[in-house]
Amino acid sequence: MSNKSTATLPILPGATLGILGGGQLGRLFTLAARGMGYKVMVLDPDAASPAGQMADVHLRADYSDTAALQQMGEACVAVTTEFENVPAASLIELARHCRVSPDAAAVAIVQDRSHEKTWLKDKGFATAPFALLDNETGLEAALAATGTPALLKVSRFGYDGKGQARVNTLDEARAAFREFGSQPCVLEGFVNLQCEVSVVLARNDAGECALFPVAENRHVNGILDVSIVPARVSESLAGQARTMAREVASQLGYVGIMAVEFFVADGRLMVNEIAPRPHNSGHYTLDACVTDQFEQQVRALVGLPLGDSRLLSPVAMVNILGDRWQNGGPHWDTLLAHPNIKLHLYGKEAARPGRKMGHFNVLDADPAAALALAEAMRDAL
Ligand code: AMP
Repeated sequence: MSNKSTATLPILPGATLGILGGGQLGRLFTLAARGMGYKVMVLDPDAASPAGQMADVHLRADYSDTAALQQMGEACVAVTTEFENVPAASLIELARHCRVSPDAAAVAIVQDRSHEKTWLKDKGFATAPFALLDNETGLEAALAATGTPALLKVSRFGYDGKGQARVNTLDEARAAFREFGSQPCVLEGFVNLQCEVSVVLARNDAGECALFPVAENRHVNGILDVSIVPARVSESLAGQARTMAREVASQLGYVGIMAVEFFVADGRLMVNEIAPRPHNSGHYTLDACVTDQFEQQVRALVGLPLGDSRLLSPVAMVNILGDRWQNGGPHWDTLLAHPNIKLHLYGKEAARPGRKMGHFNVLDADPAAALALAEAMRDAL
């Protein structure tokens, strides 16, 4: 077994980097890394993987396939991930061969909603009121603790509003819990949201952080629709979000790129979720910042100094979902007629409703004009 887990940093262009997961985040990482002169190996079982299409090598295997992990660990000097549901055991296996960031311990906390909420509470970060549920008998006490309405969320493998149900009564909660197969869940009090914001940041081995500007995020049906940057919140609230995000990363001893999502209610911040990877709400950085979140992911992974995360222009980012293909769209010509719109498509064949197919960024010195054009184009697409 070769052991490069103590690779000399920084790892320079020419080396092979690996990524677990071949979706759009992996694709954008791959493009960034290859643009900087690294070779990239993607591990993803899907033959049509968006990242696999862009990689030097696409290893088609399951994330817990020991032989594939060994092959990857031997071929790569460093490996990162694009999703939180990668088995912690896979990161541990890889770390026997090469540098891995983020590490299994951090990913294990944030990939399980129950662990994540408990960790946040223990560390003193404000969250929505919540209660943990292992079985149905705890439901009544949990509802009493959170109040109604409440949201029942599965602890593992929920995303984009999937594995979540809004409940108003004990009977509804019981039905939802059964519907989810009686698996461990978190019950969360429903927060009257003023808005939602997020902070994407990178943290390196020396504990230095580069924080991107705060994004204001609007969701539709639990899926991100639009991000507006700078967020339309007070300087003081934006500052608090950045401080809390930095503190979350440092308390986790995190190395890599991550996002912290917040609820804003009554002028206060509550941490909603931590993502141990680049984030959809950080896609604006691709066109609006000196360094984008994927280059930052590469830099943190290879131990280079972190890039400048400064915003160059106000921006509005719009997600393009598969729904747009339902009625004769999308009208790319309309979108691409605008010189200040940057389109990013992920190379996905099947346009299913709710599936993230791409996004576009609208840049304008006037933030209100950026948002207005973004909304107009979203509706015209
Ligand atoms: P999540 O997957 O937990 O981030 O939830 C997806 C979206 O659902 C969030 O971005 C919010 O818009 C909404 N949501 C989730 N939890 C709550 C809550 N406790 N109160 C109000 N809205 C919520």
